[in-house]
Amino acid sequence: MTSNQMGYYFLQVPGPTVVPEQVMAAMGMPLLDHRGPKFAQLAAQAAQNLKPIFKTKQPVIIIPASGTGAWHAAINNCLSKGDKVLIPEVGMFSTLWCKIARDLGLEVIEIPGDWRSGIDTDKVEEALNADTNGEIKAVFATHNETSTGVTSDIPGVRAAIDNAKHGALLFVDTISSLAAMNYDHDGWGVDLTICGSQKGFMLPPGLAFLAIGEKALEAAKSSNLIAGYFNWDPLIDATDTGLYPYTPPVSLFYGLKKSTEMLLEEGLDNVIARHAKLAKACRASVTHWGLETQCQVESQHSNAVTTIRVPDGVNADELRAAILKDFNLSLGAGLGKLQGKVFRIGHLGYQNPLTLMGAIAGVEMGMYSFGVSFNKGGTGAAMDILSK
Ligand code: PLP
Repeated sequence: MTSNQMGYYFLQVPGPTVVPEQVMAAMGMPLLDHRGPKFAQLAAQAAQNLKPIFKTKQPVIIIPASGTGAWHAAINNCLSKGDKVLIPEVGMFSTLWCKIARDLGLEVIEIPGDWRSGIDTDKVEEALNADTNGEIKAVFATHNETSTGVTSDIPGVRAAIDNAKHGALLFVDTISSLAAMNYDHDGWGVDLTICGSQKGFMLPPGLAFLAIGEKALEAAKSSNLIAGYFNWDPLIDATDTGLYPYTPPVSLFYGLKKSTEMLLEEGLDNVIARHAKLAKACRASVTHWGLETQCQVESQHSNAVTTIRVPDGVNADELRAAILKDFNLSLGAGLGKLQGKVFRIGHLGYQNPLTLMGAIAGVEMGMYSFGVSFNKGGTGAAMDILSK
């Protein structure tokens, strides 16, 4: 270990996020028989705890998989080969979602986007109005685009579908928004909400979650894709019985029960307000530095991650590598066409004013020693907000 690697390691990527000590301790519990009564109780309780976080009365299933597995499960259970789906492009993750959809045999109609703003709901409505035969079976919307730090208006997407009087299902990816930003599966009329464990839930990667609305349950009856491992029928049963069709990751379930208890104890409104304040402070630093955020629409800034453009001539990946080496701080990379052009500060999950201040100070010191041209003192701008 070098001297720079001693002390706290700042994991400030937008997932996986820091796992709280209490969750680590819960995951360290001795393993259980996954077919025995204790595990059944643990798993059923964890599934129940998810419902208020998704704000739903519908089942929220737990799948041992990464977030990509949740995309898979959504498609494989609800749709059929050749079905058309409408996917607004907002960044790297919506693009990857298109790819998975095509790989699984769907026909994707992509609404091109600029990676600097959220979903254009007028364009969604236009595309659905043009689909006079009702061939589009679903709209896939990314709530928080983790690559760009841009949030989209999900009630607006719902309204676009309703205004067009179209029967398409609404699938929403909340992988980097749930348990960090306001979200309401039932209230917003979402048919399928997709999430993962490694961001707002403060858990390691490895669990995927799907909140399944009634229309999605109905659509599943006529799907002809092979769901296989992702078949959600036994997983829906498991939300009550705690009995999984394969060996579940018992330790992650212990962690999930603990982390959901922590979120519910803090209170969702407080969780959301904490993230909003941290994000505002982070943006105040960026403004002070004289740098640009990737998000160009004031009302669409993400409260989970801030994506920051570096000045021309600076390679953001080299800057990130220098910051990791010198200050033991990991920042998110620029993804896809943003590679080398941006870095991302994740401020979701187990974060508080001082962890954010550490990250901002690390970025500021790193930019100074790397020779980036910027206005020093962004830490002060963040402190002004955080100390209020
Ligand atoms: N969707 C979004 C918005 C994401 O941020 C990610 C991962 O960061 C994914 C999907 C894919 O999830 P995973 O990497 O867990 O498969």
